[in-house]
Amino acid sequence: MKIPPKMKAAVLMAPNLLEINEVDTPLPGPADVLIRVEACAVCSSDLSLIAKPWVGQPPYGSFIPGHEYSGTVVALGETVDEFKVGDRVAVEAHLGCMRCRNCRLGYYTACLNYGKKGHRANGFTTDGGFAQYVVNHVNTVYPIPDAVDFDEASLITNLGCVLYGFETTGGYVVGDYVVVIGPGPLGLIAVEVAKALCAKRAVLVGTRASRLEVGKDLGADRIIDIHQEDPLRVVLEETRGMGADLVIESSGGVESPQMAIAMAKRMGKILLLGFPEEPVSADFSILGKNNKFIYTVRGEGWANCGRAVSLLASGKVNLRRLITHSFPLEQISEGFETFKGRIGGAIKVVVHPHGG
Ligand SMILES: [Zn+2]
Ligand SMILES: [Zn+2]
Repeated sequence: MKIPPKMKAAVLMAPNLLEINEVDTPLPGPADVLIRVEACAVCSSDLSLIAKPWVGQPPYGSFIPGHEYSGTVVALGETVDEFKVGDRVAVEAHLGCMRCRNCRLGYYTACLNYGKKGHRANGFTTDGGFAQYVVNHVNTVYPIPDAVDFDEASLITNLGCVLYGFETTGGYVVGDYVVVIGPGPLGLIAVEVAKALCAKRAVLVGTRASRLEVGKDLGADRIIDIHQEDPLRVVLEETRGMGADLVIESSGGVESPQMAIAMAKRMGKILLLGFPEEPVSADFSILGKNNKFIYTVRGEGWANCGRAVSLLASGKVNLRRLITHSFPLEQISEGFETFKGRIGGAIKVVVHPHGG
């Protein structure tokens, strides 16, 4: 396969300034593959890190963001026999350093050498997928079946992150009463996963009627618009006063953690997927007195992107419904604006580095 020495990439030049530049096409290291990027989705993390750099982020003028992408393998590092040229693949962002204690225990998304000693998080600490080509270590690459298209495959990290959350809270959701707060992309996917894992009931709480309707399409058994109903009252009524087995907070709202704590049953679990922008206040005495648990996840750990590919291929989860817009690389800024402003009902916006 012919690989051009130069490629087009969206380089972060200054706060909120992405510029399409010609840069050198990267070369794969011994355990890497070179991927021709077919689709790279915009994430709220991207909005945050282009506005204000995250820890470990490379300097302005050299950094290519984008961590949710899919594509075709076009070149192999010298030791790679896990993939072949032409393979269609999805990726996860995080490669741990593989030498810190967390990495050795399998918690590579929480690597203690973040941004150092061989750790890579593509699109965060190393170059990502808002480019025509990108290099990935083989440990972060997953083959996708023909039935999965590149756009939906670009959302694998979202599904992987949600699956990692379910796994972290103990897994096995069959028969559980699950509440999801916040109908953003992760919240909507959490509803789908809860149903795929045979939750008795998946309830979606939010403030935007249009997003709640999408949740209903994707399988939510009950939607609760906070402007119309008191979510806590509804959950307690539906569970005969006991509360939910699992509450997933994915809104990032400052009042939502308290709502989640109140909604969980005794011994119930609370999973925090959203990152609030400000400190929150919550009544922790409810937690201790009722033996409730709080879990957090960052990223798509424990190789859950591989499980995500399986789940997606099974047809039990639909990610295509979340992709509302696509733009060529040249219009990436418009893509970011569309995603940020939810213009035209935008949920997930995908960028195509080779046009289309
Ligand atoms: Zn993301
Ligand atoms: Zn590490």
